[in-house]
Amino acid sequence: MRLRSLNFLTNPSRQNRQFAVIGLGRFGRAVCQTLHEMGCEVLGTDIDEKLVTQVLTQRIASHAIQLDSTEPESLKEAGIFEMDTVIVAIGNYLQESIITTLNVKEAGVEHVIAKASSEIHGKVLQRVGADRVVFPEREAGCSLARTLNQPALLERFELDPENSIVEILVPETFHDKTIAQLELRRRYGISILAIGDGDKFVTNPNPQERLKKGSIMVVIGSNRNIQRLPI
Ligand code: ATP
Repeated sequence: MRLRSLNFLTNPSRQNRQFAVIGLGRFGRAVCQTLHEMGCEVLGTDIDEKLVTQVLTQRIASHAIQLDSTEPESLKEAGIFEMDTVIVAIGNYLQESIITTLNVKEAGVEHVIAKASSEIHGKVLQRVGADRVVFPEREAGCSLARTLNQPALLERFELDPENSIVEILVPETFHDKTIAQLELRRRYGISILAIGDGDKFVTNPNPQERLKKGSIMVVIGSNRNIQRLPI
C-alpha cells in the first residue's frame, strides 16, 4: 500500500491537473518529476537557462521555460496565472520567493504552495497569500527521526500535525494474537484499518483475525499513541 496515495485527503488540487513549478533546484525538480510521473501536466521554470535545459533533456516536466518570476509580465506570458496550482520552490532567495508568491496570488492563482527556508520566511509567505507553506528540510528531519526511533514503521500519512495513518510491521509481542485479544483501542487508542503482507491487504479485518509477526498492519491514531506501540 502506498500511503502517499492518500494525499487526496489534504490536497485541494486533486481534481486539477495543471501545475507550475517555479525554481528548479533539487526540491523543485523532485516535485516536477513526481507530478510528471503521475501523469500531471507540469510546467517547470527557472531563471537559470541551464536548469531549464536539464529538465527538458531529462524529460522530468511536460514543458520548461526560462523566466524571472519576479516579473509579473513574464509569468503571465508563460501562462502561469492559468495554472490551478503553483509551487514556488525558491527557498534561498527570500526576496524572489516572496515577490513570486505575491505575484501569483495577486494574479488569482487558486492554490499556491511555497517552500520556506526558515520560520520567519514561512510567516511572510503566509502573509503574502501562500495557501500552504512547506519546510522540506525540517519535515525530512522529523521523518528521519521517527523512522530511527520506530524502524518497524514503514510509512506514515499525516492527517494533520497530531494524527496519522501508518503502516507498521506486526511486532513480536502481537504474534499469533487476535485483534480482539490485543484490545488496541483500549490499550493504545489506535484502530487497525487493514492487515496484509505488503502486496495484498484485507481492510476492516475481522476481530478474530490472528496477527502474524512480520506481516503488515495499517493503523490510525494520534502520533502520541502510535509512538506508544511496542514496535
Ligand atoms: P534546493 O534545496 O531545492 O536544491 P537550491 O538551493 O538549489 O534549492 P534555491 O536557492 O532554493 O535552490 O532556488 C531554487 C531555484 O530558484 C534555483 O535554481 C534558482 O535559479 C531559482 N530562482 C531564483 N530566483 C529566481 C527568479 N527570480 N525566477 C526564477 N527562478 C529563480
